[in-house]
Amino acid sequence: MTRSRRFLIPTSLVAVLALSLAAWGQQKDRPKLGYKDTPMLPGGKWHVHDGDRPQPPVVTPGAEPGRAPSDAVVLFDGKDLSHWQVDGHEPGWKVEDGAMIVPLPGPQGGKTITSKEEFGDSQIHVEFATPNPPRGSDQGRGNSGVLIMGRYELQVLDSFDNLTYPDGQASAVYGQHPPQVNASKKPGEWQTYDIAFTAPRFGEDGSLLSPAYITVFHNGVLTQNHVALLGPMSFRALAKYTPHGPKGPIAFQDHGNPVKYRNIWVRAIKDPE
Ligand code: MG
Repeated sequence: MTRSRRFLIPTSLVAVLALSLAAWGQQKDRPKLGYKDTPMLPGGKWHVHDGDRPQPPVVTPGAEPGRAPSDAVVLFDGKDLSHWQVDGHEPGWKVEDGAMIVPLPGPQGGKTITSKEEFGDSQIHVEFATPNPPRGSDQGRGNSGVLIMGRYELQVLDSFDNLTYPDGQASAVYGQHPPQVNASKKPGEWQTYDIAFTAPRFGEDGSLLSPAYITVFHNGVLTQNHVALLGPMSFRALAKYTPHGPKGPIAFQDHGNPVKYRNIWVRAIKDPE
C-alpha cells in the first residue's frame, strides 16, 4: 500500500461526518427550553413544560380581525364563484359589490350553493347581510343558513326585531339549540359568524362514536358554546344522524331571500400533538 493510498478517506465518510457535525451544531445552538424533571402530563408523552414538545406552526394572522390568516382556504374573496357549485354546475348566484347573493325565486331559485372543497374539523368565518329594507316576517325574513358538511345548519335569519321560534332564529343550530343571546345587527348591516366545528365520528358499523360539536361567535358574541348536535338539519322532526365520511362541503341555503355573503374562509383544525 502506498503512502498516499493509506491516508485516502472515502468521500461518503466525509459527507457523513459533515452532516453529523452540522446536526450537532444545530443541537448545540438550539436553546435549552423547559424542563424534564417535571411530572408527566396525561398520555405519558410529555413532561409539564417539556421543551422537546413540537413548536406550534407559525401562522400569519389577517391584517385586521376577520381577515383570512395565512393557512386558511379562502372560499370567497368578493371576486368570483370559482370555489362553488350547484349540483356540479356553475352556480346561478350573483356576485355584486364584493358579495355573493342568493338569487331571487325563479329559474335560478332553490339552489343551495356548495363549496368544491370539503372539510372536517374546522374553523369557519362567514360574513352575511340580510335584505334591507326587510321583507316578510318570522322564518320568511332573511332566511338562509350555513350548512356545515352540507347538512348541519347554523341558521341565518333577519332576527333584528323579528320573532320566530327560538331554535330557528339567527345563530341557532336549527331545530336544536337557540343561541344564548340575540346578537343580531340591523337588516343590511354586515354580520359575522366565527365557528369552531368538530365533525361527528362514526364507527365502521355506522354507529355514532361522538356527535358533532359547534361553538359560535355571532358578531363577536358567544352564542353557542361547544354544544353537541343531535344530527343534521331537520324541519319539524327530531334530528337523527346518518353515517357519512370525515369531510363535507360548506353550503349556503337558498331559502328564496336575497341574503348576501362575503369574506368566507375555512381553516382545517388538526389534532394537537
Ligand atoms: Mg335556514
